[in-house]
Amino acid sequence: MRGLEWNRLYKTYSKKKYDPKQVASAVQRLYGDAYVKNRKGVFEYILGGEVDTKFLDVRMFDEATKRSVYESQTLEAQNKGESNCPLCALGHDANKDKIWSISDMDADHVAAWSKGGATDISNCQMLCKTHNRAKGNR
Ligand SMILES: [Zn+2]
Repeated sequence: MRGLEWNRLYKTYSKKKYDPKQVASAVQRLYGDAYVKNRKGVFEYILGGEVDTKFLDVRMFDEATKRSVYESQTLEAQNKGESNCPLCALGHDANKDKIWSISDMDADHVAAWSKGGATDISNCQMLCKTHNRAKGNR
């Protein structure tokens, strides 16, 4: 555990009560998760209540996955005459039938990574950048 800023972590999180058993098992789970790129962030992520995935630098979808999801989503949207952003398609404004270009979209975890959703193609959807930002926390 060298390299962690224990003083700062202690000051920030010591007011909360933690179950050491729970913390230990969460650490183990996250250390074993291939999607977690930043292991140094694991403790702070757990102490913060496992919400802020920026501490973990979770691996995101690769370009090939994004492109493939984009293509099938766009084709389906064009057939239905609605937006290729599924959230825009639900709306009632001018964007409801807008076909976004891939550069205007970002990959999103359908089931949030923090809730056990995998970073693979079956859990990937493309959202327009506005909706992707609005969804947040993945
Ligand atoms: Zn949208």
